[in-house]
Amino acid sequence: LHNTIQELKGNIRVFCRVRPVLPSDMSESSASKSQSDMMPHIRFAEDDQANEIELVQIQDSTTTGKTTTKQYPFSFDRVFPPKSTQQEVFDEISQLVQSALDGYPVCIFAYGQTGSGKTHTMEGPTNPDEVTAGMIPRAVHQIFQTAEQLQSKGWSYTMEGQFLEIYNEAIHDLLTTTTNGSKKHEIKHQPHGKTVVTDLTTVALDTPAQVHQLLKRALHNRAVAATQCNERSSRSHSVFTLRLTGQNTITQESSAGVLNLIDLAGSERLSQSGSTGDRLKETQAINKSLSCLGDVIHALGNRDNHIPYRNSKLTYLLQNSLGGNSKTLMFVNVSPVQISFQETLCSLRFATKLPFR
Ligand code: ADP
Ligand code: MG
Repeated sequence: LHNTIQELKGNIRVFCRVRPVLPSDMSESSASKSQSDMMPHIRFAEDDQANEIELVQIQDSTTTGKTTTKQYPFSFDRVFPPKSTQQEVFDEISQLVQSALDGYPVCIFAYGQTGSGKTHTMEGPTNPDEVTAGMIPRAVHQIFQTAEQLQSKGWSYTMEGQFLEIYNEAIHDLLTTTTNGSKKHEIKHQPHGKTVVTDLTTVALDTPAQVHQLLKRALHNRAVAATQCNERSSRSHSVFTLRLTGQNTITQESSAGVLNLIDLAGSERLSQSGSTGDRLKETQAINKSLSCLGDVIHALGNRDNHIPYRNSKLTYLLQNSLGGNSKTLMFVNVSPVQISFQETLCSLRFATKLPFR
């Protein structure tokens, strides 16, 4: 039944999540900006199930001394205000996670500028507890729990996980300790819709503890890579893939689903003018892959004959998990502070261009 509901809702959905104002926002802005710069400039409808958000631009005129405001309304499938908990957010995606067990390809993305809460949403803080854990640990927990319940109906599942990073249009394995990146990974699409990345570590997962181990290893390796290259984690896409293969001994049915959870590179518009060399290449790679992702989702919604998967590593990797009978969810993470106004506006505009609902 839940898949019928899902289909009625459409296969592409967009959720907007606004992070709270942080102590660091205060110190950053008080140093150079006036008090009003850090005032929240986002309004929500009162209702808790709201799907509307209004961005308010506040401008102080230096000549007249008057303050003018301009409103930009947006609507999404769901809007989560700063007070939303990880559990409340997860409740809205749990059916989607369930679809992967039912044999659907699922992609969940977090899009937004650096510091807007993508990693908090997907993973949670570095040492998460039951309250702060993000979507990845919650999804894993639910999958194991449901798989166990389905055993009584004859289902048995095998699961395997991978965790990679796409940096500068190259794939890096986050599950190996060799951080020199000497291995070149290639993407191969096999018949029957399976995607293989050559030489990538694949871990068989039988218990939630093994998954947590895998996540820890990936985070550690990402942190190591980050110290070698400043800001790398905000300039790369990280992709956690869980493959779920089910066999039913009673009905002889089988299912092959895949759940991809993607923490995208920061969407801040990176100026190419001041960049040179490696930095310029990096900037171009991010800009290109994020706009390609938008183009692919857009083309899918339009039911175009040609879907431009090949234009970036990320879309090529996810080719079999985007489109067809797959389900896609985009979190658009935004910051509530006035200094981020332009970036927030860009993120919301990017998201509303997607063919959701
Ligand atoms: P990004 O991954 O988009 O760069 P982060 O997830 O690292 O952003 O978030 C930036 C900061 O904001 C972090 O310190 C994080 O803990 C905090 N933060 C983000 N979202 C929330 C939230 N919903 N509740 C509390 N703190 C949050
Ligand atoms: Mg992050």
